[in-house]
Amino acid sequence: MEGLVQGVGFRPYVYRLARELNLTGFVGNDSRGVFIEVEGPAERVAEFHRNLMEEPPPAAVIDRVMQKGMPLQQGENFVILESRATHRPKVWVSPDLHCCEQCLEEVLDPANRRYLYPFTNCTHCGPRYTLITGLPYDRPLTTMAEFEMCADCRREYEDPMDRRFHAQPIACPICGPKLCRPLEEVVDALTRGEIVALKGVGGYHLVTDATNAQSVSRLRRGKRRLTKPMAVMVANIEAARQLAQVSVFAAELLQQPARPIVLLPTLHKLPQAVAPDMKTLGVMLPYSPLHHLLFEVGKFQALVMTSGNLSGQPIASTEAEARFQMEGLAERFVDHNRPIEIPCDDSVVREFRGQPLPIRRSRGYAPFPLKVSKQLRPSLAVGAQMKSTFCLGAGRDAYLSQHLGDLDSLENLDYFTRVVAHLQSLYRLKPEYLCCDLHPDMMSTRWAEKQGLPLVRVQHHHAHLASALAEHGLEEALGIILDGTGLGEDGTIWGGEILRGSFATYERVAHLKPIPLAGGDLAVREPWRLALAHLWSAGMPWDQTLDSVQMAGMNEERFRVQLERGINCVQTSSAGRLFDAVAALCGLRQTVQYEAEAAILLENIADKNERGSYYFGDPWDAGPAVTAIFRDLGRGISPARISMRFHRGLAEHLAILAARYSDGLPIVLSGGVFQNALLTELLLNELGTLRLPVFMHRLVPPNDGGLALGQLMVGAARMENGGIPTCA
Ligand code: ZN
Ligand code: ZN
Ligand code: FE
Repeated sequence: MEGLVQGVGFRPYVYRLARELNLTGFVGNDSRGVFIEVEGPAERVAEFHRNLMEEPPPAAVIDRVMQKGMPLQQGENFVILESRATHRPKVWVSPDLHCCEQCLEEVLDPANRRYLYPFTNCTHCGPRYTLITGLPYDRPLTTMAEFEMCADCRREYEDPMDRRFHAQPIACPICGPKLCRPLEEVVDALTRGEIVALKGVGGYHLVTDATNAQSVSRLRRGKRRLTKPMAVMVANIEAARQLAQVSVFAAELLQQPARPIVLLPTLHKLPQAVAPDMKTLGVMLPYSPLHHLLFEVGKFQALVMTSGNLSGQPIASTEAEARFQMEGLAERFVDHNRPIEIPCDDSVVREFRGQPLPIRRSRGYAPFPLKVSKQLRPSLAVGAQMKSTFCLGAGRDAYLSQHLGDLDSLENLDYFTRVVAHLQSLYRLKPEYLCCDLHPDMMSTRWAEKQGLPLVRVQHHHAHLASALAEHGLEEALGIILDGTGLGEDGTIWGGEILRGSFATYERVAHLKPIPLAGGDLAVREPWRLALAHLWSAGMPWDQTLDSVQMAGMNEERFRVQLERGINCVQTSSAGRLFDAVAALCGLRQTVQYEAEAAILLENIADKNERGSYYFGDPWDAGPAVTAIFRDLGRGISPARISMRFHRGLAEHLAILAARYSDGLPIVLSGGVFQNALLTELLLNELGTLRLPVFMHRLVPPNDGGLALGQLMVGAARMENGGIPTCA
């Protein structure tokens, strides 16, 4: 049996089932999965099989079952065999699981021997991926290997009828990991408003009382993260409802075993500093017993829980890293001695029309594989640069890694290298070829070039299209790709693209009319530059009353000459940058701290009651829309109405393009702009009236966090077609 069948209580389950049915034989783990031999009357063997298939243990996923008849062994009973490592693993590494109800009850029960013990877990719950050092999943191949079980734990571990039978990370206050400081001290510190660096499951969090505006502001200054929203943890769903609107589906998302951060419509009950100017609040529920205990003892309404790192650094997972990154910022360090084998940041997801829309697929999901329609040779796709993830492929499985941050820094690049090596060694996979972005300056591309393997270079937006195809098992589609930036085949920067194609090939049937991007990357951080470039391209004057024009100040003339002569300018069709430009024109932000900040504000302020919309030129020219925005600003129309007219106009125009070019193909939506729920909503409405089938991301993020999956599939198609990739 292959699939997610180890680390989820599979063998004990099989054992109990076989005993109940009075069957003899054995069950065991090896690196290919679980093997079972049962012997007994045919109808009971059939019942055994039916039970196993219809009601496997809750966290298990059976991917493949192979069966054959065997000579009778005439055994006396049913036993569980020792694990053995044999072939290349065909089991999946379980993602980390949240603390189950039964374990939580024990932790809160004064009569239980695990009362208030923060590292309680069982066969069905607890950390997995972050502490597994090798397969098969067994205690010696986890970071718990160094802890010797006490007699009580050993008894539970060895008793097939116990719910901790073969729970590899089993622990108790006597024999298990310990928190370096008393829980009460941590709670006191948080109550006093201190900033605490707290070691958790996949790494450190910076934690502080979310209702304490001063503490939150101090944390922001210390982390040099002035505007980017921070997530909070609350005790339970009821507490979440005090802070945000929680729909039925959002409640489901919050309670998934992965326990992701869920972006919810905020009720603005917490200090502004938690998520300045945001209409959403990132909320998660406790997932380790330690989190539950903080809330149980401290009765906090909400705790800010942000990744324990400085920007550009991976999430800290050892005491040394934590001290190095957060000394002077954290006012107290709370470590524990259960080592983290591989760090993993929290996941982020939002609800869209009763479905999940992943923003960051990480802890609790990674490295669970995505099933793909192609048979993959061992291969590795290295993703993009920001929101880095990679994807390892073999057979029908595509293992998408956790979020690895921006590869701009050496530390994050090291983290990337380390996680690649870890996942390759877990699955004993040696890629035969690599897939990377077309852009030669991306750190991921440079990394791939150094590996000495054949390399398939994939255009960025083709990879976005392919990631959507892969997720939905489609062969061909019309892709509406609205993205930040990516290098195009013609040397310009693309990002607003209508691509028709498959994994093997694509056609760029339409794109946003390019404008000059002056100053390259600087324009991403300074949207006023984009506002001026769009005005200039539309033939509109630079009116001194506009904030964007005032930002140019003394440099206005030089900037104009730069655009006119194309000095240090690259042409771009980026849709993300168009949103930035419109936000800057509306006076929302002239400079930003993080990518898409201005665009998010533009979405936030939109007046949903506004019915108007801007017109785009044919085939796709933002000039007429920018002209209309300029005129509306002059007439004193509010930014809220302008924003809505812009969103609606773009959606209407995209629907026209989709109808013109789809040729009966399904439509897929991909690219970072599709994190914008308003635009997506409007576009789906337009496409719905045209009766075009539309697919959007449900499993991987529409942003570059899902790119590696697309690269992997394009690479596989090109290899199949005999395209010999260029050697590095
Ligand atoms: Zn449990
Ligand atoms: Zn113990
Ligand atoms: Fe992208």
